[in-house]
Amino acid sequence: TKRIKIEALLKSSQTNIEVTVKGWVRTKRGNKNVNFIALNDGSTINNLQIVADPNLISEEILKQVSTGACIAVNGTLVESQGAGQKFEINAKEIQVLGAADPEKYPLQPKKHSMEFLREIAHLRPRTNTFGAVFRIRHAMAFAVHNFFNEKKFFYMHTPIITGSDAEGAGEMFRVTTLDAKNPPLKEDGSVNFKEDFFEKETNLTVSGQLEGELGALALSDIYTFGPTFRAENSNTTRHLAEFWMIEPEMAFYDLQDNMDLAEEFLKYLINYALENCADDLAFLEQRLIEEEKNKPANEKSEMTLTEKLRFVAENDFERITYTEAIDILRNCNPNKKKKFQYLIEGWGTDLQSEHERYLVEKHFKKPVILTNYPKDIKSFYMRMNDDEKTVGAMDILFPGIGEIVGGSQREERLDKLVSRMNEMGVPTHEMEWYLDTRRYGSAPHSGFGLGFERLIIFVTGMANIRDVIPFPRTPGNAEF
Ligand code: ATP
Ligand code: MG
Ligand code: MG
Ligand code: MG
Repeated sequence: TKRIKIEALLKSSQTNIEVTVKGWVRTKRGNKNVNFIALNDGSTINNLQIVADPNLISEEILKQVSTGACIAVNGTLVESQGAGQKFEINAKEIQVLGAADPEKYPLQPKKHSMEFLREIAHLRPRTNTFGAVFRIRHAMAFAVHNFFNEKKFFYMHTPIITGSDAEGAGEMFRVTTLDAKNPPLKEDGSVNFKEDFFEKETNLTVSGQLEGELGALALSDIYTFGPTFRAENSNTTRHLAEFWMIEPEMAFYDLQDNMDLAEEFLKYLINYALENCADDLAFLEQRLIEEEKNKPANEKSEMTLTEKLRFVAENDFERITYTEAIDILRNCNPNKKKKFQYLIEGWGTDLQSEHERYLVEKHFKKPVILTNYPKDIKSFYMRMNDDEKTVGAMDILFPGIGEIVGGSQREERLDKLVSRMNEMGVPTHEMEWYLDTRRYGSAPHSGFGLGFERLIIFVTGMANIRDVIPFPRTPGNAEF
């Protein structure tokens, strides 16, 4: 019989049919009369129980059916007598496709720390937790494309290797075929990139935005969704050196339209998870509840994972300006006590993550969209406001995450853009291609970037960004 995936099988409306399933053994227990095998094939969080009668399945085979082994089972699908599962299979034949030495297999059924599982990133997708996270990650990627496709946005592929370094000065990964230890030098001692593959300095992209703008000013509405790279030497639970970003860019959108789209988008993604990933979310929610049992009362969260997701999906985000945020932060610490963690230096400085989290988690207790930041702490391409001090930026801050989205209305006026570039030392002669869009048929436009892994942290309730991407890249870590 043809193999059927466990996810489909558990929805079967028929019993007493012959089926074949294949997957990895999670546990085996039993006695000399009967064996119960919990089988998982990754298609769902739910295991399928296989009942193996030693009179039908040889001892030699049963010995090899241990945690981690891959097996094929042929048998009869029957209603289960046991609690917690609807169906089980009475095995007629078991074939061991790949044994796993119980003395050596690292994923024995017990609780493993996240740190240990990161060391065996090649095997951790076989755990319940990572299976759930990666299925949700898939669902979210799918939902991203759904959302934009329904809105008639075009998926645009922006380059991974870029010849422009306007955005990520100091944070870029060089792409080169030159001998790193012995590069050809110019007379003044600097590296001669004319001899490099592209005959100029190239880097991995830190954002597809600037190229995305070119798309928006031709196709109206586009989005990019690809890997981005930042050589930021920060070891936080929110930063990766390689992460995925979703960057829509829209012609004829002002800052208001931009905020409306971003809020609708985030709510759509969260609702999609609630509707399509219920089993995986229920598992992750239970995992968090277990974890919190040992925490003191004041550290326990007020909502369960799904309550939190529903709350964010159903309530309006708070929208305030940067200036209003500074006032709130000043007033929550009126004496400016140095010890106080929400100490804010004053208007013009960037918010630290503890400030963002105070606003979201303590003050408003909901997602916050912060707008109109001081021009000096934001990028050259953000649209200057009439006050000439602030720009049309917007950051979306989420509980437990901090910044999840960064966006802005872009500066569409050539003279203002050029003067900002000069002020900020961005070389205009290398960006004639970008300036051309403002020279010829410029239009108001806006866009934002959503960090895909930060979204996944929020939806899954995982604590560390390293645990929501299959192969995390962080300083000192790129094993395979
Ligand atoms: P942060 O302030 O957290 O360092 P940023 O302001 O440098 O973020 P942006 O350049 O605005 O980031 O990028 C857009 C989005 O990409 C961010 O809002 C965040 O969700 C995500 N992001 C940025 N840097 C990283 C990173 N190193 N790892 C994972 N996601 C990131
Ligand atoms: Mg950053
Ligand atoms: Mg930021
Ligand atoms: Mg940002």
